Amino acid sequence: MSEIITTNEVRHLVQGGIDSWEIIIGLEIHAQVVSNSKLFSGSSTSFGSNPMSQVSLVDAAMPGMLPVINEECVRQAVKTGLGLQAKINNTSVFDRKNYFYPDLPQGYQISQFKYPIVGEGEVAVDFKDKESIVVNIERLHLEQDAGKSIHDLSQDYSYIDLNRSGVALMEIVTKPDLRSAEEAKAFVTKLRTILRYLGTCDGNMEQGSLRADVNVSVRKPGDALGIRCEIKNVNSIRFIGQAIDYEAGRQIDILEEGGIINQETRLFDSATGKTRAMRSKEEAHDYRYFPDPDLLPLYLSDDFIKQVAIELPELPDQKKARFINDYGLTSYDASILVADRVSSEFFEGVAKGRDIKLVVNWITGELFASLNRLSLDIANSPITIESLGQLIDLISDKTLSGRLAKDVFEIMLDTKEMPKKIVEEKGLSQITDMASIEVVVDKVILENPDKVAELLEKPKLIGWFVGQIMKETAGKANPANVNKILRDKLKLG
Ligand code: ADP
Ligand code: MG
Repeated sequence: MSEIITTNEVRHLVQGGIDSWEIIIGLEIHAQVVSNSKLFSGSSTSFGSNPMSQVSLVDAAMPGMLPVINEECVRQAVKTGLGLQAKINNTSVFDRKNYFYPDLPQGYQISQFKYPIVGEGEVAVDFKDKESIVVNIERLHLEQDAGKSIHDLSQDYSYIDLNRSGVALMEIVTKPDLRSAEEAKAFVTKLRTILRYLGTCDGNMEQGSLRADVNVSVRKPGDALGIRCEIKNVNSIRFIGQAIDYEAGRQIDILEEGGIINQETRLFDSATGKTRAMRSKEEAHDYRYFPDPDLLPLYLSDDFIKQVAIELPELPDQKKARFINDYGLTSYDASILVADRVSSEFFEGVAKGRDIKLVVNWITGELFASLNRLSLDIANSPITIESLGQLIDLISDKTLSGRLAKDVFEIMLDTKEMPKKIVEEKGLSQITDMASIEVVVDKVILENPDKVAELLEKPKLIGWFVGQIMKETAGKANPANVNKILRDKLKLG
C-alpha cells in the first residue's frame, strides 16, 4: 500500500522543495545619535553643511589630540537601551577597531567590542494579519562614524569630507530572529518608531541617519543555522526587503543545485535589485581590537540610569495599550495611530469629546489616504486637529451627510479652510427637514408614474428613487430621511 502524501508534500516534490527552505535574518542597525556635537569632540553634527566645515583637530586625527566623551551621547544610548527594554551595563569599554580607509584618518574607529554600553533587550512587532513577534536584541554599542569619500566631483581625484567623521552612532544588533523580508521590514519600521519617540535618532534613512547591515542565511526547518552572507549598508526599508528576497533566492538556488554558500560580505544594488559579492570572509579584516588607551572605561551609576528612566517619554507599546484601554480601539487601529508620535497626538486632539469610531475612521481612512496621495507627512497636513474636529462635529449634528463631508474634506485639503466656512459659502449643508425633502419626493413621484408602477413589483427600485432625489438636491438631502418619506408615500412599509 502506498503512503498517503498530503497536497503540500506534493507541491514540494513538484517544486523541488523550494517551499521548504526557511529564511534566517539578523540585522545590525547603525543609528546616528541625535546630539549637537560629536561623540568625542565639540564639532557640530548638523546635516547638509559645506564639506569639511565641521571638523575639529580631533576629528581630523591630528597627532596628540585627545578624545573627550560627550555625555549627551551616552545619555542618548542609555535612553535607547531603556526603550528597547534592555539591560544597561554599569561598565563599558571603548576599543580601537583598526583598519585603513581613506576617510578614516585615525586608522581606527573608536567602538565598543567586548563590553558594550547596552546588553540584551527586545522589540515587539505587530502585523496586520498574523501574530505579533518578539525580536531579541543582542546588544547596542556606541561608536564613531567615518568620513565620506566623494568620487564623482572630479575625473582625476577623489575628495574626502570629514564632517561625519566622529559623529556618534549606535549599533543595534538583533539575534537571528527574523524569518522573512516582511518581518525584517516591520522590525526596522518599529525600531525607527521607537527611536523617534525617544528622540535619540531622527530615523531619516534618506539622509543616512539609519542604515542596516542585513545578514541572511537559509536552512531546512529544524537544521542548524546555515552559512550567512552580510549585505552592507542598506539605506531604505524597501531595499532591505528586496535585498533579503534576492539574497535568499540566490542561496536557495545554489543549495538546490548541490553547491555551498561562501560566507561573504555583499552589496545591494538598488538599480538592479540584486546583491553582489564585495569580499569573502577569508579576506575579512582582523581588526585587532584593543581598549583605547586614551579613554577610561565608562562607568554609569545606578542613579544616572534611574534619572534617564524617569525622563523617558510614553513609548509606542505603552501608548498603544492606553489607546486600546481608554478609547476602546482595536489593536490594529491603535498600532496604526501610534506608528508615529504626531499621528497619535493628532488622534488624541481630535478624539477629545467626539465619537471615537468616527474619528478613527476619518484619520486612518480619508486623512491618511489623502496625505499618502499627496506625499505629505502628517506634520505638514493641510487638515488640522481643529479643522477635522469641526468637520466631525458637522457630521455628528447632521449638518453634513457622510457624502457631503467627503466633498467638504476635499475642499479643505485644497484650501486649508475651516469646514464651517466652506459649508456656509457653498451652501453645502444637508437638508434634514422633512418638509423640504417632501417637496422633492412629491416631484419625483409625480414625474415618474411608470417607475412607480414598476416599483410595486420590484421593491429594489427604491434605490433609483433615492438616487433621483439626491440628484435633485445636489446630494444634500439626508438619505435616511429620503428613504423614510419615500416609503411612507409609496406605502412600502
Ligand atoms: P559579526 O558580523 O561581527 O561576525 P555576529 O556573528 O554577532 O557578528 O552576527 C552579526 C549579525 O548576524 C547578528 O545580527 C546576528 O543575528 C546575525 N547572524 C548570525 N548568524 C546568522 C545566520 N546564520 N543567519 C543569519 N543571520 C545571522
Ligand atoms: Mg557584522
